[in-house]
Amino acid sequence: MRILCVSTPVGPLGSGLGGGVELTLRNLATALQQRGHAIQVIAPAGSVLPDVPLVEVPGVCQPFAQNQQREAAITMPAGNVLGRMWWEARRHPWDIAINLAYDWLPLYLTPFFDRPVVHLVSMGSLLAAIDTILAELLATHPHCIAMHTRAQAATFGEAIAQQVTVVGNGLDLNAYTFCEQPEPVLAWVGRIAPEKGLTDALTVARQTGYPLRIMGAIADRSYWQQVCQQFPEALGYYQGFLPTTEMQAQLRTCLALLVTPHWVEAFGNVVMEALACGVPVIAYASGGPAELVRHGETGWLVTPGDVAGLAMAVEQVRRIDRRRCRQQAEQEFSLTAFGQRLEQWLHQNLSTSQ
Ligand code: UDP
Repeated sequence: MRILCVSTPVGPLGSGLGGGVELTLRNLATALQQRGHAIQVIAPAGSVLPDVPLVEVPGVCQPFAQNQQREAAITMPAGNVLGRMWWEARRHPWDIAINLAYDWLPLYLTPFFDRPVVHLVSMGSLLAAIDTILAELLATHPHCIAMHTRAQAATFGEAIAQQVTVVGNGLDLNAYTFCEQPEPVLAWVGRIAPEKGLTDALTVARQTGYPLRIMGAIADRSYWQQVCQQFPEALGYYQGFLPTTEMQAQLRTCLALLVTPHWVEAFGNVVMEALACGVPVIAYASGGPAELVRHGETGWLVTPGDVAGLAMAVEQVRRIDRRRCRQQAEQEFSLTAFGQRLEQWLHQNLSTSQ
């Protein structure tokens, strides 16, 4: 198949502003390439994506959906890159296109193309306008929506959840090195923005006495300033936004990864990345992480918001066998299996569109 992937319009690939979508797109492209498909990616100008044909499109990036009110009207700034990327898509030959944006426009455009456009949704339900168009689109294009976890799908309500294809996620296990003997350090990895709950992890670091390795793009600068005022040690803990190779080298030697979302995390790429290194995950029991972490076996799940519970789990974390974490990653997140699930989903859409 000739597969066109249209990236998130919130930032260039490699900036970290796209969050988990950036790694997902890279892994998805590699997984499908390995299965013999021709991949073409369209992404905002400034994007970096090794080994995959990439067309960069200039334009104004979309605002983050998570910063908008649920009932907000659709926003598209003048000269928006989202519209331009789909204009660019018209110029390319493809059999099927995969949209990775959490945006109204590509959903709306789907029936206007004479070839199938499918959507890998990367976030839980945030905007009423997206919920509505998803339901409308599924009525005429029943297989065109995939999501990462059942928990993510459930946030859209039962009618939608029943119709979406759950594809999970996958990564290149060779890019993550197992570490049996950790250092007495905790990790927190993610976009620095209120919905990711970094301050909870900093509180745990204070309570347990372990330092915290913080890695991720600063998506909300005023929030980061507030964090540093409240926790001046955060400045010393912050390692920056690191490329995957360097990020995993820092992560793999940590005692545990803390995952502290204040929203429903759709999947939580960092969970699978930590497990691939043999790092147990201590996460709030909601969304994707609750579906991924095996409580008591590859980490601990804690009631959302229970910071003292996170600290108690840290004290227990040496009971987790780090080899089990790596094994879970091998069993559930292999790139090959991810590629198979994606291919099946794409075939389903191709066969129903004929
Ligand atoms: N990440 C990275 N370098 C860093 C910190 C984070 O490459 O220094 C990546 C990480 O690999 C993951 C993404 O940022 O793919 C965060 O995605 P996740 O699904 O955990 O959360 P999201 O940002 O999508 O809410």
